[in-house]
Amino acid sequence: MTDCIFCKIARGEIPANIVFNGPNVTAFRDINPRAPTHILIIPNQHVADIRDWNAYGGVLNEMFQTANQVADMEGLSESGYRLMFNYGPDANLTVPHLHLHLLGGRPLGPMVMPG
Ligand code: 5GP
Ligand code: ZN
Repeated sequence: MTDCIFCKIARGEIPANIVFNGPNVTAFRDINPRAPTHILIIPNQHVADIRDWNAYGGVLNEMFQTANQVADMEGLSESGYRLMFNYGPDANLTVPHLHLHLLGGRPLGPMVMPG
């Protein structure tokens, strides 16, 4: 997609702190990290959101495989981490290109977000 910021990151057209770049999936550090490790894992092809999860066959498998690898690279496999998809306004989805949040490096607390 021409105007999509995450498509541009996947294509290398705008800079990002990329930690993994494969043929189908890219992982890069969130520009506004909410934890010491905050990485976004995206399909390189445009998929709008998690409700369209089957749009690009098999890519979710690769995204979760990449999450395992990136978590290991970040030294989080023992301490733990959180994987998260946002969808829609109540979840504050802001970028309409499928992305899996990987958060870790500190205790994240219970799965209750501030209002
Ligand atoms: P959402 O709220 O849509 O689930 O998460 C989108 C995330 O993308 C946010 O955490 C935001 O900080 C991050 N983000 C938005 N624009 C950019 C950007 O240009 N570069 C990077 N690295 N992260 C971005
Ligand atoms: Zn896109």
